[in-house]
Amino acid sequence: MSMNVTFWGVRGSIATPSADHMKYGGNTSCVEVNVNDRVIILDAGTGVRLLGECLMRRNLKDYLFLQSHTHWDHINGFPFFSPIYRDDVRIEVMAGHLGELGGIKKVLSSQMCQPTFPVPFAELAANLSFHDFKAGDSFSLGDGIFVRTAPMKHPDGGTGYRIEFEDKSICYITDTEHVIGHPDQDILDLIEGADLVIYDSTYTDEEYPTFKGWGHSTWQEGVRLCKAAHVGQLAIFHHDPSHDDNFMDQVAKDAYKAWPNAFVAREGMTVEIKAESYPNKISVAR
Ligand SMILES: [Zn+2]
Ligand SMILES: [Zn+2]
Repeated sequence: MSMNVTFWGVRGSIATPSADHMKYGGNTSCVEVNVNDRVIILDAGTGVRLLGECLMRRNLKDYLFLQSHTHWDHINGFPFFSPIYRDDVRIEVMAGHLGELGGIKKVLSSQMCQPTFPVPFAELAANLSFHDFKAGDSFSLGDGIFVRTAPMKHPDGGTGYRIEFEDKSICYITDTEHVIGHPDQDILDLIEGADLVIYDSTYTDEEYPTFKGWGHSTWQEGVRLCKAAHVGQLAIFHHDPSHDDNFMDQVAKDAYKAWPNAFVAREGMTVEIKAESYPNKISVAR
């Protein structure tokens, strides 16, 4: 019985494959939640390419994508997720922000058409299914896994997730913007008591005024929300492309000083959620 979270892409906006971004990672948003080999994939940013290869090696062939939203940095790894080209794989994709905009199938297929991508969506071999819901809905995935959602404050909309299994829970809260001095009640309700919260920490509080209205938040707001909602640990996530390894080292130090339960997510990091050790002993394999 286990619940693990692995970060395959931690960057926001655009991939940053440069030497001074390697420590924290250059791939865009993709997080694997593994519950007893049930594979839930949070977003299909460029990090999903390596995840696809890893899933094939592990001989796992059934996955659920839960999309926070469909900006490029969260979907453009999908055409390079090699399992979509195999006929022995089953993939379900869900999104909560596209009800009025044609749905998730339309958006994913529109990025795979000529002349911007050579393989048409209709030629994918995997057994694919698509489901749209409304951010705020809750649903069961079977096998004792339950999902709650909330709307995010982001241009074109978005969905935050809480995945629960037995007495453990992890939350994925990106991309979203806060209002200074007014904690987002939808988020507080969703993350209350969670073991791990992955939070949009694109900016610092000092940088934020310059980027007000861009739809993103700060690691300091993540700390404030997590403390208020009795969360176990905070993963600082969706790093700005301009934040190189030196900058992120400083964020890690500052965040630890502000709240020792906060850490900076790095590509390749796995966090094992252990209910019996809540809240301080969740292992972070770096
Ligand atoms: Zn993003
Ligand atoms: Zn976005």
